[in-house]
Amino acid sequence: MSITVAIDGPSGAGKSSLAKRLSAELGYLYVDTGAMFRAVGLYAMRAGHDPADQQAVAALLPEITLSLAHVEGAQHIYLNGEDVSEVIRQEKAGMAASAVGSNPAVRAFLLEQQRAIAAENDIIMDGRDIGTVVLPNATVKIFLTATPEARAERRHRELLAKGSTETYEKVLEDIRQRDWQDTHRETAPLRQAEDAVLADTSELDIEQSYALLKSIIAEKAGV
Ligand code: C5P
Repeated sequence: MSITVAIDGPSGAGKSSLAKRLSAELGYLYVDTGAMFRAVGLYAMRAGHDPADQQAVAALLPEITLSLAHVEGAQHIYLNGEDVSEVIRQEKAGMAASAVGSNPAVRAFLLEQQRAIAAENDIIMDGRDIGTVVLPNATVKIFLTATPEARAERRHRELLAKGSTETYEKVLEDIRQRDWQDTHRETAPLRQAEDAVLADTSELDIEQSYALLKSIIAEKAGV
């Protein structure tokens, strides 16, 4: 049986950077499920639909083929053959992802693909509902979180480093809005699975957070 590590938590908690590094070290496949929701959100926007329009987005799903590939440890995601790994990182694709994420048809569409990947590989999968819905029997479940202020501060620093002029207040507001959407939706809301280990990194730097996750995985999976 494959080893599955589920990491859930709110936006900006550091899931993807930590999961990427852990998977490289452990030799597991890293699956960023947020990228799948972002790609569906992007497709809906490009097709001229409001990503929150559930019926319209459900009708688009048969036109969408997603595939993942791993190039030197980095996940690339292809939307109908086009590598959209970069363009889905824009803030508006994140908002669109959050909107399509409350659509049950989209969740069912992606759930099947996520489970199929997990069945065939040792993986670290990150998202919002991996431990609760996608992989309820995951070997290790971690709920990675930090206060909205700590997450906004980190994201703001990253944005400044990239030359953005976004204010801290705006970043914090976006994080709060995304948290609200992710925790209040009816289908698969963001919440900690009962058997998940809570990792709060508000007071930890990246190295300390990494060490914490590594020790949780070592204890639970014996690796
Ligand atoms: O993690 P990331 O910021 O890329 O996710 C974008 C959005 O996709 C999240 O705000 C969330 O609404 C949605 N998502 C989800 N379930 C997942 C992963 C992401 O609903 N497993």
